[in-house]
Amino acid sequence: MAHEVTLIEGDGVGPEVIRAAQRVVDASGVSIAWDKCEAGAKVFRKGLATGVPQATIDSLKRTRIALKGPLETPVGYGEKSANVTLRALFDTYANVRPVRHLPGIAGPFADRAIDFVVVRENVEDLYVGMEYGQTPSVAEALKLITRKGSEKIIRFAFELARAEGRHKVHCATKANILKLTEGLFKHVFENVSQDYPDIESTHLIIDNCAHQMVMRPEIFDVIVTTNLHGDIISDLASGLTGGLGIAPSANIGDSVAIFEAVHGSAPDIAGLNSANPIAILLSSVLMLRHLNEFEAAHLIEAAIFYTLGTQKAFPRDLDKISTLTTAAFTDYVIDNLGKASDFQQSRPYRSMHLPQTTTPEPEPNVSRKDVGVDIFIESTSPVETLGKHLEEMALPSPFTLKMISNRGIQVYPDLNGIQPDLADHWRARFFLQEECAPLNDFQVLQLVRVIGEHYRWMHIEKLAEFDHTPAYTKAQGES
Ligand code: NAD
Repeated sequence: MAHEVTLIEGDGVGPEVIRAAQRVVDASGVSIAWDKCEAGAKVFRKGLATGVPQATIDSLKRTRIALKGPLETPVGYGEKSANVTLRALFDTYANVRPVRHLPGIAGPFADRAIDFVVVRENVEDLYVGMEYGQTPSVAEALKLITRKGSEKIIRFAFELARAEGRHKVHCATKANILKLTEGLFKHVFENVSQDYPDIESTHLIIDNCAHQMVMRPEIFDVIVTTNLHGDIISDLASGLTGGLGIAPSANIGDSVAIFEAVHGSAPDIAGLNSANPIAILLSSVLMLRHLNEFEAAHLIEAAIFYTLGTQKAFPRDLDKISTLTTAAFTDYVIDNLGKASDFQQSRPYRSMHLPQTTTPEPEPNVSRKDVGVDIFIESTSPVETLGKHLEEMALPSPFTLKMISNRGIQVYPDLNGIQPDLADHWRARFFLQEECAPLNDFQVLQLVRVIGEHYRWMHIEKLAEFDHTPAYTKAQGES
């Protein structure tokens, strides 16, 4: 039976490279019923603000698989890109970016046996898009990491390692600085890794990961990381092996998977029949494996290796003197289907088990105690004046001012000998006196009301202890 796949040509070079992928996949012998749908610039120009028509959404709900060209948001149309719309609609939480040296492609890393996969959490972190102007001169973004989201992507990374016959998973975080958010991701990694004793697991700090990726890229097999780090290191990684023209990707959710090249619409070369189709061809290979069509995936991958490594035929971005058009390079790949390449052959791929998270949320057995509040206020007063004033205001309340910080550094009661450059955005930390526990909302609102008579407050954070452990971090210099 034919697999139904939603086909979105996209913008710029999209139609040229998607046509190449369609031709190669069809020639590989696998039976695909392509459902051609629209998204992107054309759709925005018709006046649809999401860039994705209902017919495309319905098609994806039915087929659950898409092969997609790059999408543009034309200037003056749409508030969000069509890619963001698709990601949000189908909750594609895993962004998978294989990074592999391909035969015949020159470059400073050509002899380094690079062959790893970056698995990027694709939904949470700073990309939740919760940003707030705190004062006219201070802005804030919330970095949201959940245990459930972390567990899902980390299990995904281990399952991918197993499905591709890989042996190591590195988890890259900034847990040394962001102890609660990135720390949670690291903690979940350490727990989940115990369920995969057959896979070696290592945590490393993201900056070291970036360094190692350049110094010793051959040590990596699978790297799992949070959204923003993944965004950056996956682009760094594709730069190691030959750039955008050859970088494939998959966006995987519980119900839908979207396969696409990493590159954009390349408007500078659109319509010239010169775009490199390898990135979308390798994305098609990922799609075929997702459909359990391992034989067809292997045929296409080997044909690309043969074309580059044995036949030395290259698209123009990889060889400036090449005269091969997109269509002509595609013809070579089709002609080479079935030819064996002497380049390292495919891995022992097998179907991947998509993880189901097991952690109930919220966790039932964790004790909770609220011990105080941080109140964020706007002020241009000198720190001593502000500190004394807040202390006075807290006197009749059940709270004691513990400290004030500015840009994360304690500035009151002690400056700790430093002279920080101050902003008009302060965090005042109040602890509830033990004898007044447990903390209740009325106590908090009373304090906020009193402070609010003198200062503009922006937000309040409760200071909680979970299982008797502080669930807040200390300011720099706070005892
Ligand atoms: P781009 O990837 O389109 O182009 C960057 C450079 O790489 C250009 O010089 C281009 O010619 C070259 N290039 C890209 N793909 C190539 C290929 N297959 N063969 C040969 N050369 C190739 O990035 P950009 O210019 O920043 O973005 C252009 C548009 O694409 C923007 O509207 C952007 O929002 C959109 N975009 C979409 C996606 C997506 O849909 N997933 C991803 C990135 C960018």
